[in-house]
Amino acid sequence: MMEIRLYNSLTKKVETFVPIKDNEVRMYSCGPTVYNYAHIGNMRAFLFADFLQRVLRVVGGYRMRWVMNITDIDDKTIRDSKIGSLEWKTEMGEQTEDPRENLKKFTNYYLEAFIEDISRLGIKKEHFYSMPRATEYIKPMQELILKIMKNGFAYISEGSVYFDVSAWREVDVYGKLYRIDFDNFKSGYRIDADQYEREQVSDFVLWKSYKEGEPCWDFYIDGTNYPGRPGWHIECSSMEYELLGLPFDIHTGGVDLKFPHHEDEIAQSKAGYSIDPTAFWCHNEFLEVEGEKMSKSLGNFFTLRDLIAKGLDPIDIRFAMLSAHYSSKYNFTFDGISAARKARLKVQEYIYDLWDKAAGIAGEKIEGAAFELQNKVFTELANDLHSPKALAALFSFINENEVDKISVEDARKLLTVMSQVNDIYSVWEISERKEVKEEIPQEIIDLAEERLSAKKAKDFKRADEIRNKIIEIGYSIKDTKEGYEISRAN
Ligand code: AMP
Ligand code: ZN
Repeated sequence: MMEIRLYNSLTKKVETFVPIKDNEVRMYSCGPTVYNYAHIGNMRAFLFADFLQRVLRVVGGYRMRWVMNITDIDDKTIRDSKIGSLEWKTEMGEQTEDPRENLKKFTNYYLEAFIEDISRLGIKKEHFYSMPRATEYIKPMQELILKIMKNGFAYISEGSVYFDVSAWREVDVYGKLYRIDFDNFKSGYRIDADQYEREQVSDFVLWKSYKEGEPCWDFYIDGTNYPGRPGWHIECSSMEYELLGLPFDIHTGGVDLKFPHHEDEIAQSKAGYSIDPTAFWCHNEFLEVEGEKMSKSLGNFFTLRDLIAKGLDPIDIRFAMLSAHYSSKYNFTFDGISAARKARLKVQEYIYDLWDKAAGIAGEKIEGAAFELQNKVFTELANDLHSPKALAALFSFINENEVDKISVEDARKLLTVMSQVNDIYSVWEISERKEVKEEIPQEIIDLAEERLSAKKAKDFKRADEIRNKIIEIGYSIKDTKEGYEISRAN
């Protein structure tokens, strides 16, 4: 087992990671806000967390207790689940008079979609210790708010409870992850939104007072009821405490969460429980599309489902994203995904060949060339998850060691190593060669049908246009007596 080194956003250094208790790593990842289908930028954050937990497990030899929360109550989930919202879908069921019921139906729908999406991306449900939903932890959130108030770092204003940043700054630093310029900070200025900019540093909301038509819970403070709902930041602070205990080992999330979300988490946990939540913060960089920020207005905004409909295999997306280093910006391009697919299939062929030669029998001991390969790949991964270097080592090994020229014994050992590497990447089949029957995406079938109709109507210009579109997406289409035959162009 190897020592794992990771970049810690708190100290801004690469440090050797050591779990607090025994051999177990307690890790918390900020999960999705289930108000829509997660986009591929979000997916990068979850794939990073998955990769990290797999490296800790396989390379570090640790047991994992991995928690990823589900934000099922916040400004956006409430906005989109309200009566009259255009975002409501019939599949969510009937809307009722009860806003909490509507919120539940709405978020259930997107939570299910999320679980389906991450499983397509090779993130396994059984690797999670828990995926808590924020609405199931309202009571512990209230308890934490009461603790913060009792310690003198929160106050009530117009039915809401706010964190008192000025009072907190007298006892501890606010701005541990992100340097904050306090020049414009006005003591007592309050912000109610869940998300806000660095320039808007102010007292942030812990509990928001009830608004007409919004879901709410009772909250008794000194015998008075303050109906309302939690702010976003308090959700994570209390779920971490309940499910992992403080301090826990690692906290993950995308770089955008450093401020205000993670900064506020640190302040809340310490102000309430008197303990820093964790000493290790790991953040993934952003995903961009063709070098630009992903946004609806630029028309380069993709969910995983969009890409699957375009014929991409989610496992190629997983491999492409995991091939890059998590702390560099990832530039999503369709060419990038097809290059990743080629690379992935090359390794897959090598594994099939190893399987044939080893007759499916794994080596008992990893020695010689197999040991060197394992050592090289794992060393790079242990060094702040340096996946590009780990894969470079794997590819140069494959290029230099044709299966034809190695012994059966070596093939068996290598098969064992490849199976361990795959416990981390999870993009290959460790099995005999299979004829894979490809599923053709619905979008392509629809195009093919449209082309057939155009041909029947003798609109050959249109038929050719559609054909080109199919080719552009990465498929080829052949005319047959029955109609057509589609296959993926590799
Ligand atoms: P949200 O559902 O908005 O709370 O975001 C879920 C996760 O996705 C968070 O860890 C974000 O930091 C992360 N995230 C959002 N956009 C991107 C992006 N373009 N690239 C990488 N990570 C992102
Ligand atoms: Zn969070």
